[in-house]
Amino acid sequence: MSRTNDRLLLVDGRLVPGAGGAFETINPATEEVLGTAADASADDMDRAIAAARRAFDETGWATDHAFRARCLRQLREGLRRRADELRELTIQEVGAPRFLTFGAQLDAPVDDLAWFADLVEDYAWERDLGRAEPMGMPSHRRVVREAVGVVGAITPWNFPHQINLAKLGPALAAGNTVVLKPAPDTPWCAAVVGEVIAEETDIPPGVVNVVTSSDHALGAQLTRDPRVDLVSFTGSTATGRNVMASAAGTLKRVFLELGGKSAFVVLDDADLRGACSYAAFAGITHAGQGCAITTRILVPRERHDEAVEITAGALAKLGAGDPQDDRTICGPVISARQRERIEGYLELAVEDGGAFACGGGRPEGRDRGFWIEPTLITGLTNDSRAAREEIFGPVLVILPHDGDDDAVRIANDSPYGLSGAVHGGDVERARGVARRLRTGTVSVNGGVWYGADVPFGGYKQSGIGREMGVAGFEEYLETKSIAEGV
Ligand code: NAD
Repeated sequence: MSRTNDRLLLVDGRLVPGAGGAFETINPATEEVLGTAADASADDMDRAIAAARRAFDETGWATDHAFRARCLRQLREGLRRRADELRELTIQEVGAPRFLTFGAQLDAPVDDLAWFADLVEDYAWERDLGRAEPMGMPSHRRVVREAVGVVGAITPWNFPHQINLAKLGPALAAGNTVVLKPAPDTPWCAAVVGEVIAEETDIPPGVVNVVTSSDHALGAQLTRDPRVDLVSFTGSTATGRNVMASAAGTLKRVFLELGGKSAFVVLDDADLRGACSYAAFAGITHAGQGCAITTRILVPRERHDEAVEITAGALAKLGAGDPQDDRTICGPVISARQRERIEGYLELAVEDGGAFACGGGRPEGRDRGFWIEPTLITGLTNDSRAAREEIFGPVLVILPHDGDDDAVRIANDSPYGLSGAVHGGDVERARGVARRLRTGTVSVNGGVWYGADVPFGGYKQSGIGREMGVAGFEEYLETKSIAEGV
């Protein structure tokens, strides 16, 4: 097993260097160079696509359900065996706070592979519609579900294991072959999955290819190639648009999980202290680098100032800290580029008349690494840029509302529709508000929607399709109707 600090591509069953050389991966908390990842060239990507195509067209992978379930369980066990090493790697490469690696940053998505393995065995692959006589011709009709083919999986850096495995799990369970192209900021998280597949599973050569690269162009190559049948993309809405446009050239299927600007609605009968403290915690977890994070806090106008005080107090107390520390909620942001982008939004917020109730810059005493203080912006309206656009940092905007209808109006006044939260004393009423939000997931009074069996995805410009759950699995299936003359 590879234990060096130079990680490789997985192409056609072999761990190989990249023809483009290697590129560095960096610890965002310290700026230390951790090591290198293989830098794939366009030719490497071409070979990976060819291998995935051949594995789909010429092997029994797509039809051998029992074998696929076994391979998925092997992958899960292989990743679990390396959990300690993966935990340290994830904290270092992603800057993910340690506590999150026991959940969505590592353990949960690895465990969830079991759900997809079980689904392969339990799923109704074929439905018998029985006999009929359409236009007087006796026929026996069946509906068969089968794999789409070669999947190009393109992923971001913020929750790399969760997103890589939430694509690999259902895509493989459904019988597809995959070319995984992870983000340049977190190549190791994907490369180790390639190592485990090559060394600890019976997954045949070509079924999974892991192509790390410093160049976004390799993602674009996947979206254009006619041998790829489906692009499963998670990333920003801007890139999602490019992916869809590029995939249109060969009319391949696209599945898009994009950005968000979700609202945390506090109703006037809520426990204000509890709700605002929770909003602070949820809003800056992993430095706010989550697509579904609730970054607009909507509070009753008459209690706005009190809500600001509670939320700002909670954010200041949580602070930004070393991701290695178990108590840290908010670590660094991923890169200098991302920090600059966030700082640009802080400037815009001030230009638009906003003020910082806490934070607003870099924390003191952190000279190395990419840090932003947990920040609460007041005094903006919902049409300001900081309230409309995805900042992807530990930056929250608090806005007053005038009752339930107004809160729903503001929450839905967004180009995005990914997620949301509602807190209220009367759960029926809170649930009613949740149902009116135009988003793919909603948490009511702290409920957690995350799970292998729960579909996740966006309305509006937050995406097309669903990841996870049976709905997510079915994104990776075709439907064939067969009629026999009888
Ligand atoms: P990004 O869009 O910059 O990049 C995502 C991936 O796309 C990377 O692998 C990148 O190399 C690749 N890529 C870039 N240009 C491409 C192109 N033209 N064609 C094909 N691939 C291309 O996103 P990011 O900065 O890595 O991640 C942050 C974004 O991801 C945020 O907007 C966040 O909301 C979103 N996100 C969404 C979800 C979700 O499930 N909805 C989950 C996590 C992150």
